[in-house]
Amino acid sequence: MAGVSLRHLFKSYGKNSPFVVKDVSLDIEDGEFMVFVGPSGCGKSTTLRMVAGLERVTQGEIYIGGELVNHVPPKKRDIAMVFQNYALYPNMSVFENMAFGLRLRKTEKHLIDTSVRQNARTLEIEHLLGRKPRELSGGQRQRVALGRAIVRHPKVFLMDEPLSNLDARLRVQMRTEIIELHRRLETTMIYVTHDQTEAMTMGTRICIMKDGIIQQVGAPEEVYMRP
Ligand code: ADP
Ligand code: ADP
Repeated sequence: MAGVSLRHLFKSYGKNSPFVVKDVSLDIEDGEFMVFVGPSGCGKSTTLRMVAGLERVTQGEIYIGGELVNHVPPKKRDIAMVFQNYALYPNMSVFENMAFGLRLRKTEKHLIDTSVRQNARTLEIEHLLGRKPRELSGGQRQRVALGRAIVRHPKVFLMDEPLSNLDARLRVQMRTEIIELHRRLETTMIYVTHDQTEAMTMGTRICIMKDGIIQQVGAPEEVYMRP
């Protein structure tokens, strides 16, 4: 079981700062594709970063696969995160970028090699393994970022606006690829976007946030979004 549960989650960035996430409670089922959508600054990234362990929880609980993770460091959580800006290491090759997370976890060398190659093939970037990120297009970089996340077979995928730096055509194509990836890997996906179309086409459920609170949660056909 690798669902994610948020229980009365609050976040403030400083002692005297206002709450930017307020009493957020949500059960994300194992294998679900949950999209957080809402205007810039409504607390989507903050919520996702708390699930990743990149931000401290001010109040409330986060469970991953039934385990309370509030004090579990990011590396020990069964998650992988993909960011908007790819966050690739510029001096490493594509292969090294994809292998990095496995090396960190002291995976055996031949297993790293097999896994990186297999996943690179899936994402059709096998021919790019020797290149540096600067020698890639935006779409190729985003594929490498996805590849780096999937080689570890995490139970939970966290994606923060992964497509917003891509041009419109590529964005539509990558949408389909991420949906396909989710289907094939059978992971739990938590996906943050401010793009309503992206939310409606990708999510099995959508969580609409505003000013730090959850406004609505439901399947795409159940929620109402202002045009
Ligand atoms: P996004 O557009 O994805 O919400 P931003 O550009 O707002 O991202 O934020 C980029 C980085 O800056 C993040 O790490 C975020 O936590 C941080 N950040 C955002 N707002 C503030 C702020 N008011 N003070 C300090 N850091 C911030
Ligand atoms: P969203 O992802 O929906 O754009 P964020 O979670 O990035 O929203 O931001 C929610 C609020 O928290 C915003 O007001 C933002 O300025 C603030 N914020 C985000 N990161 C930081 C940070 N590192 N320090 C201080 N304030 C932050």
